[in-house]
Amino acid sequence: RPSIVFDNVWFGYEPDREILHGLSFEVEAGSRVAIVGPSGAGKSTIARLLFRFYDPQGGQILIDGQDIKGVTQKSLRAAIGIVPQDSVLFNESIGYNIAYGRDGATMLDVEAAARDAAIADFINRLPQGFDTEVGERGLKLSGGEKQRVAIARTLVKNPPILLFDEATSALDSRTEQDILRTLRSVARDRTTLSIAHRLSTIVDSDRILVMDQGKLVESGSHLQLLKLD
Ligand code: ADP
Ligand code: ADP
Repeated sequence: RPSIVFDNVWFGYEPDREILHGLSFEVEAGSRVAIVGPSGAGKSTIARLLFRFYDPQGGQILIDGQDIKGVTQKSLRAAIGIVPQDSVLFNESIGYNIAYGRDGATMLDVEAAARDAAIADFINRLPQGFDTEVGERGLKLSGGEKQRVAIARTLVKNPPILLFDEATSALDSRTEQDILRTLRSVARDRTTLSIAHRLSTIVDSDRILVMDQGKLVESGSHLQLLKLD
């Protein structure tokens, strides 16, 4: 269970236009941290830096104590399971879409996937069978069902780190609560960073970081943020 550390990270997409201004935070191994903040605060930029789509101009990003500058994108993808807001599914069966996470679409190893209790929970709550086609000629999945498939696809890779980037932001609040309930159990033994602009998504975090304009403006538990503790 690796930790994630941002240590005084400076970053801009263009010269002279900094987005992250000396950002520092830590997600302790096995803990659940949520980052919230208004649109444009730099939240998704954190996700892109973690996958090394870009490298910071200053400071360090460490995973499990190692500077990710020395880590390939491939290794990072194996270590970090991301669930984005709009997951794209293949026009194939539900089972194929889930198995793709593990096998690179070579085989339909759904049975193996379903043996994992967490994944089974996601799969069992889909109204259709594994063999049902998704897409054009097949079934139209709802937004919540699509996210369910996408999350299962991420989980079968068994990544030690989970990154939710607005994973439930496009869902109605009831579906969101339903999916968050399952994610709560899934995240239990993984290092989890959850990025969101809605407070409803972060109730399960050990610590909440509030971000604005590329900086942390506050951090603490729920009670601390509410000044109740
Ligand atoms: P958030 O996820 O908090 O909404 P982002 O990390 O997506 O914020 O964006 C932070 C800032 O970076 C915004 O001002 C956005 O316009 C800018 N930005 C994002 N992506 C790019 C890009 N590829 N090139 C230039 N600027 C970008
Ligand atoms: P894999 O090698 O595990 O199949 P992919 O090549 O599909 O992984 O991509 C690695 C991960 O990076 C994917 O899970 C994908 O959702 C994520 N990703 C792709 N684009 C972005 C983005 N703009 N910001 C953050 N994550 C992204």
